Amino acid sequence: MLRFVPWRQIANWRCTACGNCCKLYSVVLNFPEWLTIAKTFGAENTVAGLDKLFLKRENDGSCAFLCHFAGNYHCGLQNMKPDACKLWPFKVLAEPKYGEAEQAVFDWAGKKLFIYADSMCEGLRYGSPSWEFKSLVLKEFAGLALGTCRTQHNTTRNGSPFGLRRFSLY
Ligand code: SF4
Ligand code: SF4
Repeated sequence: MLRFVPWRQIANWRCTACGNCCKLYSVVLNFPEWLTIAKTFGAENTVAGLDKLFLKRENDGSCAFLCHFAGNYHCGLQNMKPDACKLWPFKVLAEPKYGEAEQAVFDWAGKKLFIYADSMCEGLRYGSPSWEFKSLVLKEFAGLALGTCRTQHNTTRNGSPFGLRRFSLY
């Protein structure tokens, strides 16, 4: 299967709080995110690359803010969760970068967007898009990507007081 799947091939998405995304990927920070995190937790919890800023990763690759208790993974950043984490596993783009444009196009707020999901996420269910996925989940991801929405209701793990990436663990 392709790594990036256009949204029309996805029935729904729900974070299972498996924590894999927080163990496998580096999180890129924009400057305001870096500043807030550095002021609150110390700059030693971040890493400067050649031209990008990242969250620190532990020796096993996990994000420094990944917590594990009560059998689940949780995000230790919560209200400061970086945009990269809020948007995972979706990519909301202005161009059909990963192909299948007609399967990826999403008209929203007068804009033509192209939305794909990273198939590494185990919370994706494939098939024909459900009403919930199209009308609640994708619209919220589009709003987060465009900066018109800051609060996560449908793009985070449901039912958790702490939330994984979607709720807040990404
Ligand atoms: S978004 Fe949720 S289900 Fe997907 S990889 Fe991350 S923790 Fe697992
Ligand atoms: S969601 Fe939280 S724990 Fe996961 S990578 Fe992002 S900041 Fe780290």
